[in-house]
Amino acid sequence: MLSGWGRVFGPGREVCSEDIEALTNKATLTRGLARSYGDSSLPDARDGIVASTRLADRILSFDEGTGVVRAEAGFSLLQLNRTFWKRNFAAPVAPGTQFITLGGMVSADVHGKDHHATGGFGNHVSEMRMRLASGDIVTASRTENADLFKAAIGGMGLLGHILDVTFKMPKITSPWVAIETEKMPDLDSYLKGLKDAAKRFPFTMGWIDTLGATGKLGRGILMRGRWATAEEARPGVPQPLQRPGLPFVVPEFAISRLTVSAFNALYYGVHPSTMRRKIEHPETFFYPLDAIRHWNRVYGRRGFTQYQCVIPDAAGPEGVKSFVELLRKTGGSSMVSVIKDCGDEGEGMLSFPMRGTSVAADFPARDDVQMIVDTLNAHLIELGGRVYLAKDRYTRAADYRRMDKRVDAFLEVKRKYDPQGRLRSAQSARLELT
Ligand SMILES: Cc1cc2nc3c(=O)[nH]c(=O)nc-3n(C[C@H](O)[C@H](O)[C@H](O)COP(=O)(O)OP(=O)(O)OC[C@H]3O[C@@H](n4cnc5c(N)ncnc54)[C@H](O)[C@@H]3O)c2cc1C
Repeated sequence: MLSGWGRVFGPGREVCSEDIEALTNKATLTRGLARSYGDSSLPDARDGIVASTRLADRILSFDEGTGVVRAEAGFSLLQLNRTFWKRNFAAPVAPGTQFITLGGMVSADVHGKDHHATGGFGNHVSEMRMRLASGDIVTASRTENADLFKAAIGGMGLLGHILDVTFKMPKITSPWVAIETEKMPDLDSYLKGLKDAAKRFPFTMGWIDTLGATGKLGRGILMRGRWATAEEARPGVPQPLQRPGLPFVVPEFAISRLTVSAFNALYYGVHPSTMRRKIEHPETFFYPLDAIRHWNRVYGRRGFTQYQCVIPDAAGPEGVKSFVELLRKTGGSSMVSVIKDCGDEGEGMLSFPMRGTSVAADFPARDDVQMIVDTLNAHLIELGGRVYLAKDRYTRAADYRRMDKRVDAFLEVKRKYDPQGRLRSAQSARLELT
């Protein structure tokens, strides 16, 4: 059985090799490190073959003068950080885990704490080599097969197998991060603080308590940061941090509204009430969840889903507040509810971010999870928002179409490059993206 990060299991077979061209020859889907939470990296049928790129991870070229790098699709963000931080280069976007590959970063058009400043990963990609469903290998860029390029960015692997990616990394002043952490007593101050921080800092994000009682609902910890200057930086290069593992799957009864509320109150309580400034290790700031291996076991045997959506600025802070209020009412127990700022929509035809506020909450996969997602989606549609496919497992096809008017244009390009619908995932079958 194959699985996604939320412990979703599906049929099919995985093949893996260093030879990415041979690997993708017969596959119906390609995947990287399977860090998408739902069913986007799983085949939709027992005879589905998923090519895993995790061994196809070489750097093919690097220009120190421009920061342009070309690497195989299985090259991970972890390898990128370890190779380039010491040379004062960084990835152009800062998502919440480094256990992801270039292929996954393009296919989900991943965004980070810096989306308001730098956009999604696709913005920084200049070219890809792709194997199409026909077996042909082509180049896709803004000038060559431009429709394929734009549909593949955020296209969840449905346009072709990405073999290698060329993208540009920015030069940084040091690999350490200068951060500020501030407690916010309620959602209004949190949302205002987030918008203000975006004007001054490239990295902004934070955690909010979606289970707090009225008045405390949406209290949170806001974080903002930038690369430290050479003078501010700690001595030397940041060394990889130790990562203890969660050795067992936590029993389901341990995660209840009561225990999660207590955890949230404790997490909020331990943060000092005055604003803190610090020079931080980049792994601690960018990838807090990576600190514990297999943390996805915490929600029990049946796993969990992360519901992540973006609410457009047009809906205003009232729209975000109404959504967070609904999250609380629906009863999903979320330990890590994250609110981030999103900048302009990218070029990718199905890319997730749009100018607005992203809200993400985890729910254990219990019997009521489909009902919770349906309820949240109905309100999200009224607000003009959409869900993030890399996290999704439960959205219904009809709801997805209501959220994203770009689907028909995407399908036109999909049918041009894959007329027989050979490239499929469990998610594309569920959402009728074939
Ligand atoms: C703790 C955690 C934090 C996260 N934080 C963020 C965040 O801040 N921002 C964000 O945007 N995302 C975030 N994510 C989601 C993650 O970045 C995406 O799901 C990403 O796509 C995972 O990369 P992967 O290599 O594991 O891809 P997989 O999960 O293996 O695959 C994801 C999709 O990409 C396709 N794909 C992968 N490789 C290829 C290829 N070579 N050719 C064609 N298609 C391919 C797959 O078919 C699938 O549809 C987070 C995930 C975790 C677990």
